[in-house]
Amino acid sequence: MSFSLLAAAAAHGGGTPEWAMLAYLVAGVFFILALRGLSSPASSRAGNRNGMIGMALAVGTTLVMHGTNLVEIGIAIAIGAIIGVTIARRIAMTAMPELVAGFHSLVGLAAVVVGLAAWLNPAAFGIVDPAGQILPVSRVELGLGIAIGAITFSGSVIAFLKLSGRMSGSPILLPARHIINLGTLAAILALIALYTVSPMGGAGEGWMVIAVAVLAFAIGFLLIIPIGGADMPVVVSMLNSYSGWAAAAMGFTLGNSAMITTGALVGSSGAILSYIMCRAMNRSFISVIAGGFGADAGAGGGGGAREQRPYKQGSAEDAAYMLEQAEKVIIIPGYGMAVAQAQHALREMADKLKEKGVEVKYAIHPVAGRMPGHMNVLLAEASVPYDEVFELEDINSEFAQTDVAFIIGANDVVNPAAKTDKSSPIYGMPVFDVDKAKQVFFIKRSMGGVGYAGVDNDVFYMNQTVMLLADAKKMVEEIVKSLD
Ligand code: NDP
Repeated sequence: MSFSLLAAAAAHGGGTPEWAMLAYLVAGVFFILALRGLSSPASSRAGNRNGMIGMALAVGTTLVMHGTNLVEIGIAIAIGAIIGVTIARRIAMTAMPELVAGFHSLVGLAAVVVGLAAWLNPAAFGIVDPAGQILPVSRVELGLGIAIGAITFSGSVIAFLKLSGRMSGSPILLPARHIINLGTLAAILALIALYTVSPMGGAGEGWMVIAVAVLAFAIGFLLIIPIGGADMPVVVSMLNSYSGWAAAAMGFTLGNSAMITTGALVGSSGAILSYIMCRAMNRSFISVIAGGFGADAGAGGGGGAREQRPYKQGSAEDAAYMLEQAEKVIIIPGYGMAVAQAQHALREMADKLKEKGVEVKYAIHPVAGRMPGHMNVLLAEASVPYDEVFELEDINSEFAQTDVAFIIGANDVVNPAAKTDKSSPIYGMPVFDVDKAKQVFFIKRSMGGVGYAGVDNDVFYMNQTVMLLADAKKMVEEIVKSLD
């Protein structure tokens, strides 16, 4: 795909010298190798390295090729680099998901700004005909680039607010939202079509470009506010995909083949990830992109007062005793493990159990934590062997032959309401069958805390469940001491 895009861009970009096309092609190959590397935790460092080499090559080529305003560009890059490095050093691992959403919003905003700059000064972008009018094909690219960029921007800002807890994670459902969304989308497309065939020029048609941007900002907001609970992970990867398409559209406007290739790679890999996550979550792809299509106005469960039900509470010593007696233990990590940074203590605990002859496996849900692959990254950081880590569909049938299900900071991903309660915001999402294990240990800080979806969990009150109420890291360290 990227090669045909390069050819298309070459035809459009016209003036790109051959050496630069070759350099962009090599950069594109590095980006593909980066994606390949990022598909497994074992090769992800090499993947990241390839991505950085590709980006350095692409940026360097663009700078050498254009060769103007290098001082201004250097200052802008230095400011961006200082901000980027500062954020990267300070950010807590638990705040990564909202950081990613925040960065996506910047890609969207950049696409809008580039689009507006090209509209205001088309001759500088080489997109005018001899009469000085913007070429029709460039008008389509501009319109689409601004629209996708604006949707990405406002959608990502809402995702940022929801993921950082500044806005409720529950769906916010407006009446007649599908009619409003479809109407807004139709208006955006009609305006782009009108702009493309517009005989005017200059300021006369400016209102159309501004209207596209304003309506697209609005629809990004409208599409994301109704999404909550189990659908949020799909939205994060979908916005990632949109940011790629926005960059690709701007690549056409700028006649820059590296931008088109990179944008298309990000756009298509984000779309594939969204599709995979939808399948894993038992959600329809169309429903999620249409904005809370499946959400029921009455759903949202458990946010209010919860009934007091009896539960058993245990200590680290109880857990250590039962764990070392077990033949097979499955550990289910979730967001709370990331908050507590308990992964190293957890690996130490697993090592001790293995020394005592206990079989230990880790079960990873596709949406555990707050970003795709969150748990895999943390376990890899703690050097947990990859062959002990299993995906939901590969391990779920094993709970019936398991002595202890050890839940550490997970909640929604083990909640049986997803199977039984149609009014629950997580209904339909596949969850771990921990109720089939002989014994369940459930680590969380208090009975008051809920998971991301904000719903109560019947697992707390099961006969075979013992609640270990403490910070996950402290509790696991205590268990390790007891095992000694
Ligand atoms: P949840 O958010 O459902 O639950 C987290 C649990 O961790 C809670 O029970 C909380 O209880 C506990 N916890 C928090 N801090 C600590 C701590 N320091 N020590 C011990 N326990 C702690 O997590 P899951 O991983 O099960 O589910 C992920 C949820 O996030 C899903 O609903 C998913 O849809 C959503 N989501 C996932 C994204 C992704 O891409 N993976 C993106 C966006 C949303 P307490 O406060 O009482 O300690």
